[in-house]
Amino acid sequence: MAITYKPQLQSVDCLDLTKQIRFLSTEGKIWFGEQRMLLMQVSAMAAFRREMVNTMGIERAKGFFLRLGYQSGLKDAELARKLRPHCSELDIFLAGPQLHSVKGMVKVVPIEIDINQESGGFYGELEWIDSFEVEICQTELGQMDEPACWSLLGYACAFTSSFMGREIIFREVSCRGCGDEKCMIVGKPAEEWEDAAEFTQYFKADPIIEELYDLQSQVSSLRSSLEKQQGQYYGIGQSASYNRVCRMIDKAAMGKVSVLLLGETGVGKEVIARSVHLRSERAEQPFIAVNCAAIPPDLIEAELFGVEKGAYTGASQSRPGRFERATTGTIFLDEVVELIPRAQATLLRVLQEGELERVGDNRTRSVDVRVIAATNESLEKAVEEGRFRADLFYRLNVFPVKIPPLRDRLEDLPLLAEHFLKKFHSEYNKRTLGLSDKALELCLHYHWPGNIRELENVIERGVILTDNNESISRESLFAGIAEPQSDQHQSVVDEHGQVVEDAGDMSSGDWATQILGNGISLEYVEETLMRRAMDEANQNVSGAARILGLTRPALAYRLKKSGILAES
Ligand SMILES: [Zn+2]
Repeated sequence: MAITYKPQLQSVDCLDLTKQIRFLSTEGKIWFGEQRMLLMQVSAMAAFRREMVNTMGIERAKGFFLRLGYQSGLKDAELARKLRPHCSELDIFLAGPQLHSVKGMVKVVPIEIDINQESGGFYGELEWIDSFEVEICQTELGQMDEPACWSLLGYACAFTSSFMGREIIFREVSCRGCGDEKCMIVGKPAEEWEDAAEFTQYFKADPIIEELYDLQSQVSSLRSSLEKQQGQYYGIGQSASYNRVCRMIDKAAMGKVSVLLLGETGVGKEVIARSVHLRSERAEQPFIAVNCAAIPPDLIEAELFGVEKGAYTGASQSRPGRFERATTGTIFLDEVVELIPRAQATLLRVLQEGELERVGDNRTRSVDVRVIAATNESLEKAVEEGRFRADLFYRLNVFPVKIPPLRDRLEDLPLLAEHFLKKFHSEYNKRTLGLSDKALELCLHYHWPGNIRELENVIERGVILTDNNESISRESLFAGIAEPQSDQHQSVVDEHGQVVEDAGDMSSGDWATQILGNGISLEYVEETLMRRAMDEANQNVSGAARILGLTRPALAYRLKKSGILAES
């Protein structure tokens, strides 16, 4: 039935709406027109809202309730059109505020409504009295910092947009939930709001679950990489040079002395730095690793020392830097030579005074951080060239530790290889038989420019390419290497990681063909082998005999016979 148009906004009858409500208690249903409704306690809603705010934070919870209201507003716009088919635009529109009142959510008092459906123009100003959401804030959440009638606002936006057939946005310009005198809303077409795009983001569902899964996987990968790092290859090795490093690290660990780690890329500087931290009194505190070369120079200061809001374009929030986050713990500055001069100056001050200022801030903050720096290029040279402050160099160079490259401690390689095999067996759920003898031999003759990290990668590749219960061959360790075919040439990996032909390698059965083909005599072969063995054993007959698999007397006899021993 139709309602007569009444100019007084407040006096429009809402009897047609209340008549739509049907309580069918025997059936367990309440109907509002064709919508099934629920009667639920505001207090239950309040507890729910508090839980949402506590679990998801205000911003996400706000979006959630705005969308809740939005869905309801869309349904009610449909209902209003159905119930008031022959009414004036204004009366159809007013069904929205009335439905809000009928449902007990809020009393709506229109202050000004301008509707021009032809031109699409809309302006609305309404007051909300006794909003249930304000009540919720007062009972459950306390006073908010911003307007709090979220679901009511979502409802108003949806109802009016559907009614106008274009996007209308309402904003709550004042709200009792945040301490204002009354709740007032203003609505106009989206284009007339400057920040419409930002606001309408709230109406887009924002599935938190993807983010949670993502974070979950990040946490688990961080955790496993942390476990790996903690149980990593520090201390694996028996070579004298490496043991010397370990002894120095153990000494340096206690106390707060700055440690400077020197060595080629991939020798495991971060692993050592972490070991210093884990062996120190700070082990329970944060360990923060920073690769100075990986951060753009214009961001490095903010990244390390923090930034105050507004310090530069894009600094929209104040945040602590890595030093503040590492306080009471340890910071590891890899590639420290890459620091820009201003960052060098601040670092020096941190080391000397234990204090810093964030970028764009004049407040001095004290930090208690142990610094472990590392570099793979010479800091002395950088000082000479004027790229690195001399005073900072002296400060960092209190306890320098040089970590030897892998090629200088090849006797540790089998142990390290074993370590990485175990690691990748469990990571890939596989069980190979380990390196073949040939593969190990190749590893022991390789130059390893990428050091331990390269060995780790090579072993990983080997494990991936090798089936269970098979040995890891040279070919699966190094890409592109091929077993020699019918020709006598073999491929080996040179110091640059390139596969090259090596005609001089006699380790395959083809050496016999090669010797015979070149008309070399047995006598010459025997002599050459004995001379080589003597050289390798520093002219010690017993040593050379061991190399050749002979007894000492047997070799001595042959040496004399060929005249080699008489010569020496
Ligand atoms: Zn409000």
